[in-house]
Amino acid sequence: MLSVCSDFRLLANLALREALTSGKTARGSLARFASQQAKLLHLNFYHALAATDLAVALARAHRGRLRRHRASTVPYLRRLFLRTSHHCFHFDPQTGKLRLSLRSGEWISFQVHVAPYHRSILAKPGLRVTQLHLTPERAILIYGKPAPEPYAPESLLALDTNEGTLDGVTVAPKEGTHAVRVDFSEIPTIQSCHAKRRRHLARKKATDRRVGKRLLNREGRREHDRVRSRLHPLTKQLVAVAAAHRAALAIEDLSQMPHPRRRGRLARRKPSTRRRLSSWPRGELNRQLAYKAAEWGVPIYWVNPFRTSRTCPRCGGIAVPRSRVGPVFVCPQCAWSLDRQLNAGANIGRIVLRETKELGGLRLDLDALLDEAMTPRYPFECIGRAREERTGREGRPLKDSVQTLLQ
Ligand SMILES: [Zn+2]
Repeated sequence: MLSVCSDFRLLANLALREALTSGKTARGSLARFASQQAKLLHLNFYHALAATDLAVALARAHRGRLRRHRASTVPYLRRLFLRTSHHCFHFDPQTGKLRLSLRSGEWISFQVHVAPYHRSILAKPGLRVTQLHLTPERAILIYGKPAPEPYAPESLLALDTNEGTLDGVTVAPKEGTHAVRVDFSEIPTIQSCHAKRRRHLARKKATDRRVGKRLLNREGRREHDRVRSRLHPLTKQLVAVAAAHRAALAIEDLSQMPHPRRRGRLARRKPSTRRRLSSWPRGELNRQLAYKAAEWGVPIYWVNPFRTSRTCPRCGGIAVPRSRVGPVFVCPQCAWSLDRQLNAGANIGRIVLRETKELGGLRLDLDALLDEAMTPRYPFECIGRAREERTGREGRPLKDSVQTLLQ
């Protein structure tokens, strides 16, 4: 089997080199090349296809990095592994028996240890194992799950992303309009803690760049992991609450937002503020919300955030410039005033209600917001603060108080 792994790696590297030197980007022409090479290496057609897919993905990522003027070395596969599609293997999760086609007419079968948890996952209806990634140490099964059709929304949860919070409104037919605030304040705490540590490390290892770089990289990875693991329960709860109330989510569409640094908006800020504002993981938050919403069948609407923080939701008046909008938005044309962050969430709600037919029965009641703006609901406030250093899984278990949202 190891010889097959090493032949497969060779095949993938040949396809990769072909993709980079000839400039081929089409999967078809690369697959033709790879299947010719596969014949010479006595591998089958499906190995060639898997190697082509790898080569195409790696070459595309490399080209993308070069286009964006990022540092990139020419990709090359070093690790020994075999990736095959479901045509080439058969796996029985109950017995753990894996039967695998190595070369044309040559099969092996062996036993894989399957934990009860994995067995329960693989037994779910509709789930299909699509790929096998085999290394000398482990077997990784990659499966696909059909996403349910999004339900017809009965209410709306519109949120604006801010540093440390998501603020916005919920609109339901019976309960009316309410202001909500989802607390993510732990994440800035984690980030500032790690920024402090990185600064300290950089100073301490200023004379040893090699060790300094390694330690700083490790610090960065640890921060990344901690932020992710804190975001996951929060996004899961948010989507679960939306699903329980058959609510649609409305979130700002980051792809339509100019990068603040490119706009020069951040240039005037202090360096510490700049770091804080641009390190807030908006992209990761939206990625998690998007895939979890798809998994739960929650409809999600992406709203262009242009001017949402400085527009009046009542009369459409625009405050200029943005930097003069303080913690409270005050309309220059009418008497409307509201917490700036809640105001942006209300605008997102207004836009999505105006533009979406499925939400036609809902009405944004702005007067209800005025009464509540001083005390928005904090659906996630029960989650514990971030610790200074990771010692196992962070935070206390989530309580049921999340259910106050959308009641
Ligand atoms: Zn106004």
